[in-house]
Amino acid sequence: MKDTVQYDVAVVGGGPAGFAAALSVARSGLSVTLLAPPPARTDNRTAALFTASVRLLENLGAWEACHATAEPLRAIRIVDDTGSLLRAPEVLFSAAEIGLETFGYNVPNLSLVEAMRARSAAAETLTVIKTASVRELEIGASQVNLKLAECRQVAARLVIGADGRNSLSRQAAGIAAQTWTYDQSALTCTFTHQRSHDGVSTEFHRAGGPLTVVPAPGCSSNLVWVERPAVSRRLAQLDDTAFRDALETRLQGLLGPVEEVSARRLFPLSGLKADAAGQNRVALVGEAAHVLPPIGAQGLNLGLRDAAILADCIGDALKQGRDFGGPETLTAYTHARSLDIATRAWSIDVLNRCLISGFLPIQIIRGLGLHALKAIGPLRRLAIREGLSPSFVTPRLMLADGDSSAHPS
Ligand SMILES: Cc1cc2nc3c(=O)[nH]c(=O)nc-3n(C[C@H](O)[C@H](O)[C@H](O)COP(=O)(O)OP(=O)(O)OC[C@H]3O[C@@H](n4cnc5c(N)ncnc54)[C@H](O)[C@@H]3O)c2cc1C
Repeated sequence: MKDTVQYDVAVVGGGPAGFAAALSVARSGLSVTLLAPPPARTDNRTAALFTASVRLLENLGAWEACHATAEPLRAIRIVDDTGSLLRAPEVLFSAAEIGLETFGYNVPNLSLVEAMRARSAAAETLTVIKTASVRELEIGASQVNLKLAECRQVAARLVIGADGRNSLSRQAAGIAAQTWTYDQSALTCTFTHQRSHDGVSTEFHRAGGPLTVVPAPGCSSNLVWVERPAVSRRLAQLDDTAFRDALETRLQGLLGPVEEVSARRLFPLSGLKADAAGQNRVALVGEAAHVLPPIGAQGLNLGLRDAAILADCIGDALKQGRDFGGPETLTAYTHARSLDIATRAWSIDVLNRCLISGFLPIQIIRGLGLHALKAIGPLRRLAIREGLSPSFVTPRLMLADGDSSAHPS
């Protein structure tokens, strides 16, 4: 084994949550390393990122580079296409209704990671070790040794586990997780169309799950089509012409004729919630801590809040002269994340199960809920605000000025 390189913080995983956590924490002046194997080039997902997430990226200096591939989201429309006896009305949530120009932007995951990777090169206290896959974590009382491939080793006083749903960091820290699966898969692709989307993201609520079209630059949109796995597999295997026809039928003329369709990918739906966000010198961010079905665009927005709040907890520990990787800091982080993660995981799960339930009383309750959202302005505006970002969480890096006085860049 070669010499061990010592850092204050080691981030495991170079997905969007890992980069956001590394950049956020590096602002405190701590030495940070990001162990980041290159992302799968086949990831065709995009993320609808709400205003607070965009503000975080602005404050981290990564937004400008994302902007070229991002498309503003001005409204979200929900269309009931469940075929239920009680058809719910169409509901439009508009950013203008709460005094905003946009809810946020739709950004390709790969562009987002590239923008943060480029920004990392300029961050003095951050070292990105490319192609560094962590094989083992040895957790001691005051530090963690991380064994990498190629016989290299890194040590840190705090590990940030951003290593996705099968997180090795989570397992090494002994953090248990509840996991569950859905009998559904999401099919993703990008397609061009003749009619403008006008910045409106449309969710068709269907019996197999939601079919969502999210605005992308020009006359193009990103598709997230949730269905029963057998149906998704069949759709993925169709030739382009047959797939275009199937999509056009489902869109009911919304975007006019569908033109070019990109390669399709399938994501089986599942859920995960870690019992704690941090313990034993490991703090979890992103899908290492929580996995939600792609409904309501919550997953990565939640993961970016993890990163920003962890930076706050570490900043507070440093100010108070506490161990930034110690139990007090990790307990504070777990407390700060528990309500946000629990309420999002619960509400998305309930929403999804209500949608696919064939049980009439549940369909009636869902329909009444949409009627109420359409008819009652204050309720709709409350739902919009809470959907964008919970009112009880305001990390410093998601504020307009990024609390730049507290975090030197
Ligand atoms: C179809 C779909 C649509 C979605 N749409 C939205 C949306 O509109 N808005 C939204 O907010 N969210 C959305 N999400 C959720 C969002 O995509 C995820 O939350 C996000 O990609 C997770 O990022 P992450 O960094 O936590 O994990 P990942 O992207 O999985 O990154 C984990 C990284 O860790 C690395 N890694 C793993 N093990 C190791 C190891 N041992 N050593 C080193 N590195 C390791 C992996 O290589 C990977 O790069 C969507 C999800 C799906 C499936």
